[in-house]
Amino acid sequence: MPKTYLMYISGKWVPSASQKIFPVIEPATEEVLAYAQAGDAVDVDAAVAAARAAFDVGPWRETTAQERGRILFRIAEKIRAESSSLAELEARNCGKPIVEAEYDMADSATCFEYYAGLATKITGQVNPVPDNAISLTLKEPVGVAGQIIPWNYPLTMAAWKLAPALAAGCTCVIKPAEQTPLTLLKLAEWFEECGLPPGVVNVVTGFGEAAGAPLVAHHDVDKIAFTGSAAVGKMIVKTAADTLKRVTLELGGKSPNIFFADADFENAIDGALFGVFINQGEVCSAGSRILVEKTIYSKFVEAMAAKAKTIRLGSPLDRETKMGPLVSKDQYNRVRDYQELGKREAKLAAGGGRAVAFAKGYYVEPTIFYDVDNSARIAREEIFGPVATVIPFENERDAVRIANDSPYGLAAAVWTRDIFKAFRVVKGVRAGVVWVNHMQPTYVEAPWGGYKQSGFGRELGPHGVDEYLEVKQVHVNLNEQPIGWY
Ligand code: ADP
Ligand code: MG
Repeated sequence: MPKTYLMYISGKWVPSASQKIFPVIEPATEEVLAYAQAGDAVDVDAAVAAARAAFDVGPWRETTAQERGRILFRIAEKIRAESSSLAELEARNCGKPIVEAEYDMADSATCFEYYAGLATKITGQVNPVPDNAISLTLKEPVGVAGQIIPWNYPLTMAAWKLAPALAAGCTCVIKPAEQTPLTLLKLAEWFEECGLPPGVVNVVTGFGEAAGAPLVAHHDVDKIAFTGSAAVGKMIVKTAADTLKRVTLELGGKSPNIFFADADFENAIDGALFGVFINQGEVCSAGSRILVEKTIYSKFVEAMAAKAKTIRLGSPLDRETKMGPLVSKDQYNRVRDYQELGKREAKLAAGGGRAVAFAKGYYVEPTIFYDVDNSARIAREEIFGPVATVIPFENERDAVRIANDSPYGLAAAVWTRDIFKAFRVVKGVRAGVVWVNHMQPTYVEAPWGGYKQSGFGRELGPHGVDEYLEVKQVHVNLNEQPIGWY
């Protein structure tokens, strides 16, 4: 019998007020892996009240930065200690290969460690005002943060949001994606022993409309941090306008991965495949538009297709697996539709359908389309699956123009041995992250976020904690005489 998980509100494990639960499906088997509580506005109210109280009157406001840092270090330690069971749960819940899930657990721990250290480095400023006064800038926590998490990197995305918020002194109501709530719920089991007072972090599970939307609309939530689709991101901005809460958004992308003829060919092929197929292509920064210089284009498409056909699909729990199933039936259907659309819009070099070797599970073939026009829907819309579009370009100017011809601007990569060309492209491309001769490495020390419709605000690095801080100006008058104006 699959386990039924409760929600974590005000330091207690509780069912949803409606008593409704929903099944969490294992994408490799299509079986029920667990049940989770279907939270709604009533549960969100309870969670926000707990977070509000913990922030306004609870001990959290008095907790020192050192203490907050120590708590975050303990959470990191716990993730490291439990990493193999967490990775297994993550792999089973979202379908990613176990080896990738292990990386994710290490990344999540690293994120808590980074912000544990940063908690004691949040400092203000003394402003040189032209008066007999002391002018200070203080940094204070924003308050109650509502955090909405996607399903592609469930624990890591939760860590990216929880760790800086807690370092800043905020309290949190966090909602994992309905498809993948399990690792965050598991983590919450350790919050108390790690020293988090009740109400500081509350986990509400449920669907977007039922549990996410009321969090965004709530009067007592000061800030929303969201990672997910552009469509939902736009709704969030509209809803948040009513209460003028702060919003940070990390949305989709259609990131260009640009290959010049002088790039190392073998590395380039690997980089093109890794950039778009890692995590089944369910990556916001997936290099899904592969721009290749005309002189190497045919050879490139051929080599990419040949190697794509060798990518090992399999059970997420098999250490040899390089690609697992997609996260859900819905996502499978969405990706299958794009595979069919691509066959009408461009030419097919590899894949293009369901991975027929698997009787069960949401497996699709790694798919490569070529001779894609950048105006095609498969080149403009985020697919969030293992579907690559290869687009030829004439020259550097052409490459930058095509790269920027997208509503999105999350990430980009450029491959060349020419350092001058590399930096010209770095400057020319409008994206929040640009890699040179690599794609996808992400570091907690470095900012992450997009330009254009890929969102606003930055996560990770010092920027990540700034998004959870208010700025207070303090003026201390040192003149004891009257102001003497009237
Ligand atoms: P996808 O459609 O690929 O599942 P979403 O952007 O819908 O991507 O999901 C990302 C996160 O946003 C999930 O936690 C989901 O529950 C949540 N979400 C979906 N719709 C809404 C909404 N209307 N308001 C707030 N959160 C939502
Ligand atoms: Mg959705």
